[in-house]
Amino acid sequence: MTATQLGEITVHRIVEHEIPVYLPTDMFDEATPEALEPYREWLVPKALCPDTGCLVMPVVSYLVRTRYHCILIDTCVGCDKTYAEPSAWHRRANQRWLARLAAAGAHPDEIDFVFCTHLHSDHCGWNTRLVDGRWQPTFPNAKYVFSREEYAATEAEGHQLFLDNVLPVMEARQAVLVDMDYALDDELWLEPTVGHTAGHVAVHLNSGAHRAAMCGDLIHSPLQLAEPGWSCNSDFDLELAATTRKKFLGTHCDTDTLILTSHFPSPSVGHIVWNANRYDFSYL
Ligand SMILES: [Zn+2]
Repeated sequence: MTATQLGEITVHRIVEHEIPVYLPTDMFDEATPEALEPYREWLVPKALCPDTGCLVMPVVSYLVRTRYHCILIDTCVGCDKTYAEPSAWHRRANQRWLARLAAAGAHPDEIDFVFCTHLHSDHCGWNTRLVDGRWQPTFPNAKYVFSREEYAATEAEGHQLFLDNVLPVMEARQAVLVDMDYALDDELWLEPTVGHTAGHVAVHLNSGAHRAAMCGDLIHSPLQLAEPGWSCNSDFDLELAATTRKKFLGTHCDTDTLILTSHFPSPSVGHIVWNANRYDFSYL
């Protein structure tokens, strides 16, 4: 497993799985075969599977070791969870993600903080695991940091996800609810990036002159670099999501900020660049 060095911060990408999941039109209403045609050659095969026609979207976490802390950003799908769709996420049984976390040198006991960009099934699944029939925090010594708005919105929905992935953390007194611009210290802070969800945040890292940002689901696919106005059907506010995405792309384009994505194909990490009259991604 390769690590990315960011000054004194080390970042490992922990992949849960990387498979073709959704047809482009399942995610973006605008992504008809005709609309996709100009981008097909650019996307195939890494981001668009030529056999299934589906977008290839890994589900990943980032393990971040700063001078002070061992931190996880987002916790993938998890095991034994009841998810309506996609079927590949429902009641997963393999523990490969935990093995990969161990291979990156981190035992669950060592995690000091868990940050969730938002509380969707593929970003908070490993928050808990089933022990003797009860959901328990996977990381017994961690504080789990959620934005107050995201927690409130997820609690109000009252779905199984909240009961399985979030509430057990709160009941264990391991949850910390913060403002969307919360700063842990001079090396990690949050930026409100609302649109995909009501309390979505990006997680910024800084060490010396080195910067990175984990963008969560404010961008799902490299396709949205070519078409920043295409919001995901699951965004709670499509217009706001597009505005947030355009601002983020404009801010970080052609800068040194390393973008840690949630769902771009491997290696998932790179820089936003301006190329041939549109945004593009220069993979690390
Ligand atoms: Zn996601």
